[in-house]
Amino acid sequence: MDPFAPFALTLPVRRDVPLKPRTTWRIGGPARWLITPVDGAEIAGLLAAWPENLPRVILGGGSNLLISDKGVHGAVMDLTQGMNRIYTITESLIADSACLVHADAGATTQALAHFARRLGLTGAEFLAGIPGSVGGALRMNAGAHGGAIRDLLVEADLIDPAGGIHCLPEAALGMGYRHCGIDAAWIFTGARFRFRPDDPARIRERMRAFNQRRRRSQPLAWPSAGSVFKNPLSGPLAWELLDRAGLRGMRVGDAQVSEMHCNFFINLGQATAREMRELIDRAQQTVADHAGILLEPEIKFVGWE
Ligand SMILES: Cc1cc2nc3c(=O)[nH]c(=O)nc-3n(C[C@H](O)[C@H](O)[C@H](O)COP(=O)(O)OP(=O)(O)OC[C@H]3O[C@@H](n4cnc5c(N)ncnc54)[C@H](O)[C@@H]3O)c2cc1C
Repeated sequence: MDPFAPFALTLPVRRDVPLKPRTTWRIGGPARWLITPVDGAEIAGLLAAWPENLPRVILGGGSNLLISDKGVHGAVMDLTQGMNRIYTITESLIADSACLVHADAGATTQALAHFARRLGLTGAEFLAGIPGSVGGALRMNAGAHGGAIRDLLVEADLIDPAGGIHCLPEAALGMGYRHCGIDAAWIFTGARFRFRPDDPARIRERMRAFNQRRRRSQPLAWPSAGSVFKNPLSGPLAWELLDRAGLRGMRVGDAQVSEMHCNFFINLGQATAREMRELIDRAQQTVADHAGILLEPEIKFVGWE
């Protein structure tokens, strides 16, 4: 039976859609259903009538996910297709000369960074090298080069699992290092960010410097999901712990700990989710045995239940 039949006329719903191409790891099985909503009201209506016991996964840019080989036996909601507007809220130019920008949750963080750059607005330079969507970045509190998305965030639009619509200020979201305190079942649909004016040439120069640093230190030619593990709150960084435990270059099938950056695990071509998961588990156990530290995965596991 088609649980989405009541929505079929108004909402794009597709069956048995491969998810592998929608992840930066190029790994994972299909989605039983794939839904691509165009706005928050549509999502709210859908959630209010959600079929009981049907699993639901929110997909952004797929740059921080390990989807199982069997895929998602439920519905995947992809916000990147129909919800990706970015615009300034001109009437909200604030007294301290900051400027407010709205981004839909499905817009890419890179588009947001370049939108701000083109308008001579500083603050999002660090986002230019982080793949994925605004919604995913909010869920992960994505960050780099000393910045994180919460630093720019004024307020976010969310939908709760019953379909209730909320607008919450940054302080209510419980954001910390690669963490958001909002229940994982809530969906970000958009957010407002605060930027300050700066010389566009200087903004471009900072972006260029950040991206160069990435190209020098990260295996960007290979499919990956960025850093697999979070850094411990103090002491050595995750990549140092992985390196000291002798994991650099370790392989399980086509899944490999990058020779270039030990916290990036790369897909050499045909890696399966099972192989990547085994590599992650083995790396975690080896570091625990070697250094007595249990590294916490930064990436999210989807469809493994
Ligand atoms: C080459 C490379 C470099 C990277 N560098 C960095 C870096 O420097 N810093 C960093 O922080 N990360 C980095 N990452 C990881 C990743 O890009 C970020 O975590 C990114 O913000 C994830 O966004 P996404 O849209 O791809 O999320 P996805 O991978 O699609 O999803 C991640 C999680 O967010 C949830 N989610 C997605 N959208 C929503 C939504 N609208 N509402 C609620 N939940 C949602 C998903 O269900 C999932 O739990 C890197 C990844 C790669 C491949």
